[in-house]
Amino acid sequence: MSTYVILLGPPGAGKGTQALNLAEHTGLLHLATGDMFRENVRNQTELGQAAQRYMDRGELVPDELTISMLLDRLARDDAQLGSLLDGFPRTTEQAEALDAALAEQNAEIAATLLIDVSADEVLRRLGGRWSCPDCGAVFHEVFSPPQTEGACDRCSAALIQRDDDQPEAIQRRLDVYAQQTAPLIDYYQRSGKLRRVDGERGPDAVGADLLAALESAD
Ligand code: ADP
Ligand code: ZN
Repeated sequence: MSTYVILLGPPGAGKGTQALNLAEHTGLLHLATGDMFRENVRNQTELGQAAQRYMDRGELVPDELTISMLLDRLARDDAQLGSLLDGFPRTTEQAEALDAALAEQNAEIAATLLIDVSADEVLRRLGGRWSCPDCGAVFHEVFSPPQTEGACDRCSAALIQRDDDQPEAIQRRLDVYAQQTAPLIDYYQRSGKLRRVDGERGPDAVGADLLAALESAD
């Protein structure tokens, strides 16, 4: 039986950090649509070229492109035991497409874990964020600085500040979340899949709660 878990929350909630930790503890394959898009941008693929202008502005890549990218990835051999979805779905249309695709394989979502963080806290956090272009690890100047300034703890690559972590793009991402993604909280609440975790604490406390929420779900 395969296990599909969704990680939901506003930008800056700590999804990336928590996803790496959860994947390590559960053995679930971590699939992050943001990382997949960034890899396509780096490799200058057709998809990357189509996605980049949306990403740089802090807007969502159109559903059609996003859904086909993610469903193609889920169809590969290494995803057959399930996966941890980080950054997908982000719209109702994506959620419905995912439900339909899983239903076709007689599978379903085990749990949707919401990392709950207020808009004020999000604004505070997103300012000093640095990301690893190679392995996707995320650091913060104040809350979780890397051991060596400017370098990734996991793979030593030089850290970067993403275009979408610049101020105008941050505000845009928050608006997009409120309008397009927050309705998914109700969507998964209605199907009884939602588990809410207080995300306004340190990464270890949030991580422990997420694991506990996941265990109570199956
Ligand atoms: P964040 O750090 O804001 O959670 P991600 O790294 O998950 O952002 O994604 C970066 C960008 O990639 C998004 O702002 C968006 O442009 C695009 N993207 C990622 N996932 C999706 C999705 N499910 N639907 C549409 N666009 C997406
Ligand atoms: Zn790295």
